[in-house]
Amino acid sequence: MPTTKTRVPAVEGWFTLDGAAPALLGSRCTACGTVAFPKESSFCRNPACTGTEFAETPLSRTGTVWSYTDACYQPPKPYVAADPYVPFAIAAVHLAAEQMLVLGQVVPGVGVDELAVGTGVELVLDTLYEDDDHEYVVWKWRPTGTTDPTRAQDA
Ligand SMILES: [Zn+2]
Repeated sequence: MPTTKTRVPAVEGWFTLDGAAPALLGSRCTACGTVAFPKESSFCRNPACTGTEFAETPLSRTGTVWSYTDACYQPPKPYVAADPYVPFAIAAVHLAAEQMLVLGQVVPGVGVDELAVGTGVELVLDTLYEDDDHEYVVWKWRPTGTTDPTRAQDA
């Protein structure tokens, strides 16, 4: 009999575990509306703002590839690496509504030769690693088969 492992986030509070429509969780400054990810809790990233109160807000689930690379080294936060480390493609994805970049692993099987600046991607959850009782999941970017032509021209 296969056992059902409990699905838990590899990092607590950074994204929802909604299997159908997962979303990253950022913070929105209550004073100026600037969105930050990972969540900000002390100072607003807008240098012109003195806001110190933040509300949790789900980020856009789709964006466009702004930059990408083969990750032959372990990337810094907010990426959470598997252990042992396995190379893969990572992408910095531009979220238009938030005007921000979010780094993340690209789903397994998609290499850098299948990515381009402007490639449309959506957020999915995938297993990062497992133990006997838990499946630890993290967000990854999956190409949607669309391309933002304005972005592609910029490349
Ligand atoms: Zn602010």
